[in-house]
Amino acid sequence: MARLKKVKAEGETSAPGARRRGHELSLVDDIGQIIGHSHDLLETLHKITEVVAERMNTEVCSLYIYDPKSGLLTLWATTGLDKAVVGKLAMRVEEGLTGLVIERLEPVMAVDALQHPRYKYFPETGEERFHSFLGVPLMQKREPLGVLVVQTRHRRRFTSRQVRLLRAIASQVAGIVIHARLLETLKTREKEREQFRRRLAEAMGRLRAYERRDDGVAPGRRKPGQLRLVGAAASPGFAIGKVHRLHPGVLLEEVRERRADDIEGEVAAFRMAVQAAAEEMEAQKTRIHALAADADVSIFDAQRMMLEDKSFLARIEERIRAGAGAEWAVREVVSNYVEAFAAMSDTYLRERGADLRDIGQRLIRNILGLEDRRRGLNPGSVVVAQELSLSDLSILERGSLAGVILGSGGVTSHATILAKSFEIPTVVGLGRALELLREGEQVIVDGNAGVVYANPDAEVVREYSRLEKEYKAFNAELEAAKDLPAETLDGRRVKLYANIGLLIDLQFAQRHGAEGVGLYRTEFPFLGYKRFPTEEEQLKLYTRVIEGMNYKPVTIRTLDLGADKYPPYLKLGREENPFLGWRSIRISLETVDVFKTQLRAILRAGVVGKVKVLFPMISGLEELRRAKEILEEAAAELERDGLEYDRQMEVGAMIEVPSAATLASKMIGEVDFFSIGTNDLIQYLLAVDRNNPKVAALYEPLHPAVFVMIEEVVAAARVADKPVSMCGEMAADLLCCLPLLGMGIEELSMAPFFIPVVKRFIRSVPFSLAQRVAREVVALPTVREVKGYLFEAVKQLGVVELVDMYH
Ligand code: PEP
Ligand code: MG
Repeated sequence: MARLKKVKAEGETSAPGARRRGHELSLVDDIGQIIGHSHDLLETLHKITEVVAERMNTEVCSLYIYDPKSGLLTLWATTGLDKAVVGKLAMRVEEGLTGLVIERLEPVMAVDALQHPRYKYFPETGEERFHSFLGVPLMQKREPLGVLVVQTRHRRRFTSRQVRLLRAIASQVAGIVIHARLLETLKTREKEREQFRRRLAEAMGRLRAYERRDDGVAPGRRKPGQLRLVGAAASPGFAIGKVHRLHPGVLLEEVRERRADDIEGEVAAFRMAVQAAAEEMEAQKTRIHALAADADVSIFDAQRMMLEDKSFLARIEERIRAGAGAEWAVREVVSNYVEAFAAMSDTYLRERGADLRDIGQRLIRNILGLEDRRRGLNPGSVVVAQELSLSDLSILERGSLAGVILGSGGVTSHATILAKSFEIPTVVGLGRALELLREGEQVIVDGNAGVVYANPDAEVVREYSRLEKEYKAFNAELEAAKDLPAETLDGRRVKLYANIGLLIDLQFAQRHGAEGVGLYRTEFPFLGYKRFPTEEEQLKLYTRVIEGMNYKPVTIRTLDLGADKYPPYLKLGREENPFLGWRSIRISLETVDVFKTQLRAILRAGVVGKVKVLFPMISGLEELRRAKEILEEAAAELERDGLEYDRQMEVGAMIEVPSAATLASKMIGEVDFFSIGTNDLIQYLLAVDRNNPKVAALYEPLHPAVFVMIEEVVAAARVADKPVSMCGEMAADLLCCLPLLGMGIEELSMAPFFIPVVKRFIRSVPFSLAQRVAREVVALPTVREVKGYLFEAVKQLGVVELVDMYH
């Protein structure tokens, strides 16, 4: 524990001002001493309140810590108030004078607190005895951490010097609070991780002893600039490196209005900038492509198309001819587009606005002849930027980038997706990252938790280095079963396929051992185009998927647009109830040309590899027959055109509308397979919006009606001897796995990440048991009973830990 230095300052000078100053300096010093010798946070804080109360001659000194999530201020240490309420007394920010300090982020003083309109009485503290109040905020950069309060029994006005003194103390205390919190989080995370590993290893019967390091690190003095930022995890893994800030070389908003003197000269400069930008992008695309053959370089094409868009270019030239300087004309036109994108309700499309902004900034940089901001990046850097645009992707190619921190929240932005494919740990959504993080400062990027630490202690760095090593080893272990079949203990073989959208997903599918693509959501790549892609463009796209999957089977689903997926070129009005509206196959059947173009491309792709075609949102036989008719027309056209296509292509229907499920036995004769889409099936069957968090608890895959309906669909297919696959999220739900297996589903298609764990599950259970479970589960009447029954079943199998982990 800290030993206090005796204060001698008061007697050392006769000048009262100097004496006071000396007294105050020694108080700050002493607090520093306490902190420097601290081993126990609470004890240290208590000691600080004791010393402050004594030296400032107040009856009370208390420290409250603020939790921004709950909006509560909790008493952590006090001298003068009842100690029994430490850790228990919590007040809302809107109440009391202490809360007012947080609201204002400024010191608050009251000579007679009892008369203050914000005074709030907390009887537990016996506080009515104290009249004067002075509270100062504890801050971490500009965020509040807590409040340091002094109170006196008598009415007293604190001098501005005393206010400053208390502020100086508060800033020292803030340091140790930040440090303590950082270590606390680290320990909790480590504990969780350790638990996870242990339980998983147990479930697999390969328990290994993981040494637990509980010794922690004693909280010491905070280093300047230590910081913990919480954002969203966008790409997993850990990185430790030095900050490299990518401040946009030129921001649209920074371009100032300028009139053109020489209009022809400006037009020429603009045209050269367009040319230079196109060349830059082509070069980048080639480099990225060479590095990651499967990377989704179609995004470069989408941007380049914009550069080739006559009306876009004409609009800018028009402005120049009307007298605007070239860069100002670009700014104006691009800003209009960006705003239009920002107003869209689809997140994916909103994020496309970033691509447009990038084109604009690239053009402006070329017009102004500015340097590329990506120069001077050292190996092992952690790039910090507001947004990573396509122009910045070349930095990813250097292979030496440690991590990425983004201010924007774009988890689905192209750059984030690419960062993921390059396996670069990435945290997004840190709005103030550029403002807070300094060039060259050390940072840790925790891409699993979505947390960033700046200037961490050596101990913290060591902890993370160790975590990083273990994390890699753990992942390698999970992937070890990559080439083993998904086969039950008694030999029932199931196929595990991947659900994919963008080409980038293929890497994950391959990495996690997918045996093919069970669901290719074609609407996702379509969203990136300016118009419906042509037959040739689609054929190229599908061919890349087939090649990317090493010619393993690929099920291509025709467009499932509408609901929450609107490409800009599909002029759809907003609907009251889009999930029950004009979506999916309904759109396809009414836009026959578009539909036929897609079907022609799919049929032609069938010559390249093993392709099946799948119709979404089928609700009855009429729709199915009409879709098949158009498919036949497409085939006949290809025949006439003399183009190669797959004459035996298998045709499937998604079973995701309850009416289709009810008609399964009548429908199966007209298709080659069913694919059950539980995401929609559950929402339509239970009347629960799959995207609405308010009713999320009602969205229940373990509802008995869901199992009964799936059983009926599978039974109908069984009678006709046709295969059934499942491609909704339920396919990756381990608790559902036994009954689904037992019912006879032969293919499960899921987000690639889940393939290894589902495979492990299947490899640890007997099919005979799964069959019994399937029979019994459909007889159960309530969700509770279904859940209880399934938990019991997996418990008896000894795989409950595995299920717990992923459920
Ligand atoms: C489904 O509805 O279960 C499905 C797989 O399709 P999507 O999630 O694309 O609607
Ligand atoms: Mg669906």
